[in-house]
Amino acid sequence: MTQSIPLFNSKKQFKIAHLADLNIDDNSPFPLKVPDDFMLQMDLTDPNDPLLKQVLPLKIENQTATGFSTDPVHDLDFTPSPSLIHKYHGRVLLIASPKCDIHCRYCFRRHFPYASHSNTRHWQKALEYIQQDNSIHEVILSGGDPMSLSEGSLVRLIQKIEAIPHIQTLRIHSRTPVVAPSQAPITEFITWAKQSRLNKVLVVHCNHANELSEKTAKLFQQYKQAGFHLLNQSVLLKGVNDQVPILENLSHALFAQGVLPYYLNQLDRVQGSAHFEVNNSTALSLQQALRKKLPGYLLPKLVTDISGVPYKTELNKNQ
Ligand code: SF4
Repeated sequence: MTQSIPLFNSKKQFKIAHLADLNIDDNSPFPLKVPDDFMLQMDLTDPNDPLLKQVLPLKIENQTATGFSTDPVHDLDFTPSPSLIHKYHGRVLLIASPKCDIHCRYCFRRHFPYASHSNTRHWQKALEYIQQDNSIHEVILSGGDPMSLSEGSLVRLIQKIEAIPHIQTLRIHSRTPVVAPSQAPITEFITWAKQSRLNKVLVVHCNHANELSEKTAKLFQQYKQAGFHLLNQSVLLKGVNDQVPILENLSHALFAQGVLPYYLNQLDRVQGSAHFEVNNSTALSLQQALRKKLPGYLLPKLVTDISGVPYKTELNKNQ
């Protein structure tokens, strides 16, 4: 039987089959939020649809899991200024927006205190910090999702970054081009990119080939023509993409749309996401099997974030 649940920030209802069997948490503080484009890619009659699983708030998220925390990558230990994370050499991450077009249940920042970060009034201080440190050559826009900003705000922020002479590269991490291509910035943003002196990298976050469509293909093409290098970063998620044919298909589908697979991340252990975790030995076996199937340029690095280590660590059998 098909039933409906309300969507966060929308008057629309989300109609799915078998709702009563799914143990939905109607009162999650991280409520159901799904953009139309992403919904159109789902099979809403299938409770095991890999896209549906990424967005449904389940009661199991309320169970406390050992080893899981609200700040699994210790972002808050590396914030020299509100909204700025300086963890890696030569690069800083700017929390450009507290919002996203979608609420991914496995999100490692789902408990992040956005109220005291990511506010336009913090940007000036963050930019001053970047200006004063010549060793910083790359600014990474993250969030939330930087592409959930209005296009004008996004471009104004980028122009301020570009005005800092020692910044060479702008990297944007965004799930908007995949989950909400109809809402992605396309006019002012592309005009800016075509004439910008910066190296431009866009890391889209796609976990399953079903997320890709003609709309994403067209958008990626426009970003490429504007000078962006397109990379993908996925999260390994139990029940979503933890099978060799699914990951193999994802790499091929991304490449067909001009995107290179870059990282396959082990889940960051954030409270509420334990049911998505794939253990390290299974993850390594998957990677080994993929290695036999894919050319090297389509094999994403299997990585994990280790607290206190100033780079992403490739997963190995001692972890
Ligand atoms: S788009 Fe990214 S930051 Fe936003 S909820 Fe999903 S994983 Fe988290």
